[in-house]
Amino acid sequence: TADIPRPREQRVITIANQKGGVGKTTTTVNLAAALAIQGMRVLVIDLDPQGNASTALGVEHHSGVPSSYELLIGEVKVGDAIQQSPHSERLMCIPATIDLAGAEIELVSMVARESRLKTAIQEANLAGYDIDYVMIDCPPSLGLLTVNAMVAAKEVLIPIQCEYYALEGVGQLLRNISLVQSHLNPELHVSTVVLTMYDGRTKLADQVADEVRTHFGDAVLKSVIPRSVKVSEAPGYGMTVLNYDPGSRGAMSYLDAGRELAARAVLEGSAAAGETTEE
Ligand code: ADP
Ligand code: MG
Repeated sequence: TADIPRPREQRVITIANQKGGVGKTTTTVNLAAALAIQGMRVLVIDLDPQGNASTALGVEHHSGVPSSYELLIGEVKVGDAIQQSPHSERLMCIPATIDLAGAEIELVSMVARESRLKTAIQEANLAGYDIDYVMIDCPPSLGLLTVNAMVAAKEVLIPIQCEYYALEGVGQLLRNISLVQSHLNPELHVSTVVLTMYDGRTKLADQVADEVRTHFGDAVLKSVIPRSVKVSEAPGYGMTVLNYDPGSRGAMSYLDAGRELAARAVLEGSAAAGETTEE
């Protein structure tokens, strides 16, 4: 695969949608793998106690392994928690373990509870790892873990499932992004929307896609991720679809999405959360 241009500065992208099962984790790991295959150096930070991103990237994440939890509470530095994915020399992961399940509550009483991830990343000076993309996989909630991810990033990527009620809850997500933007991180904006689990045989999928494009305009990637059995099988083998079946439609669509993501300049302001219309 031909290499794609490296970003001029490191891009930190938070993958968020408080709805579960919309394809956050799938999009995080497959986009990360797609970018890595095309020459980028990528770090995935798993912020979901379920640890599904860690599983797909083939990194250790049993309880006690230095993880995003220890990083957030300040017990370890990035360098202690970062693992190399066996899938690619350019793909790294800070895993999530079940220990993260209590973090949402533990963080409440901590100093600078919203910016602990940002501080940890900055301290590590990730440039030392020569990382082009940091991709943060969020849990299905808008609690402190997701807020930490939004404070640490400039860009939010929202995966939207091409299904009934696709935009349900998106208004709330955008309001939260606006709040983080005005109080904690002025640079935060919705840079990217990815349509996932698209089934071309249904009218509904097209209707949803149209609706999302009307709502988010140019932020929506042209590459749409099809519903594909290969995509859903891959994590069961501790893989992304790009390792599991590189020639599949699912793999191709994530390669395209990665190329598109890399090609576009970071949208400055125009796609800012606050300016996007409500559902
Ligand atoms: P989230 O992280 O938002 O909860 P996941 O990425 O875990 O969502 O996806 C939810 C479920 O849908 C998983 O079982 C996953 O394998 C499946 N899935 C995600 N994307 C696709 C796709 N393009 N085709 C088929 N199944 C998919
Ligand atoms: Mg997930």
